This record gives sequence, structure tokens and C-alpha cells, in this order.
Amino acid sequence: MLKENQIEMLKQQLLQKKEQLISQAHFSQNIIEELHFEKSSDELDYAEASSDGHNLSILRNKQLEELQEIEIALTKIEKKKYGICEMCDEQIGIRRLKVKPHAKFCIECREAYEKELES
Ligand SMILES: [Zn+2]
Repeated sequence: MLKENQIEMLKQQLLQKKEQLISQAHFSQNIIEELHFEKSSDELDYAEASSDGHNLSILRNKQLEELQEIEIALTKIEKKKYGICEMCDEQIGIRRLKVKPHAKFCIECREAYEKELES
């Protein structure tokens, strides 16, 4: 089991990361809007601007995905179910949580999951 103070520390980490992601998400949204504006004013840059915009929306989706995972982790803290692997129900190691506080799987399951995605 995780100790109360360990959970508190990870919670702070999650909240910090959340704020960071939110401000970054706003930032990339502004860039996307700017690119759209440029696109209509200068047709020559159309292809370039739209591919940049595309990359940014991928980045933005990743940020939103991470944000969602952070939200889930925070809810789990509230429900006292934080740090449990979603696949095997084992405790996720504190070392892993320190690196990735919103981890859903323990290291073993994460590896199995990634192999599954590759095949
Ligand atoms: Zn597991």
C-alpha cells in the first residue's frame, strides 16, 4: 500500500502537471487559430500552414489524452483506489508512479499492453 504522504506528493505532482497541460493546450489552440488565419490570407503558404496545423492538433490530442488520464488518477485518489494496476489489480510501484503518476498499469502489464499494440 502507498503511504498517505506518498499519495499526497503524487497528487501535487498530478495537479501541477494538469495546470501545465491546460496552459499548453491553450497555447497550441492559439497557434492553430493563427495558422488558419494565415491560410486564408496567403494561399501560397496553404500547404505548409495546414501541415503544421495538423501536427499541432496531434500534439493537442496527446495533451488532452494525458489530461484525461490525470483526471482519472485524481478521481482514483479521492476514491482511495489510486496506484492499482487496471489489468492485474496489483499495486503499481512507487518508483514508477514517481516517474508517471497517472500510470494505469504496472510495469509488467504496460509491457504486455505495448507488445499487444505492436503486433
Ligand atoms: Zn499489472
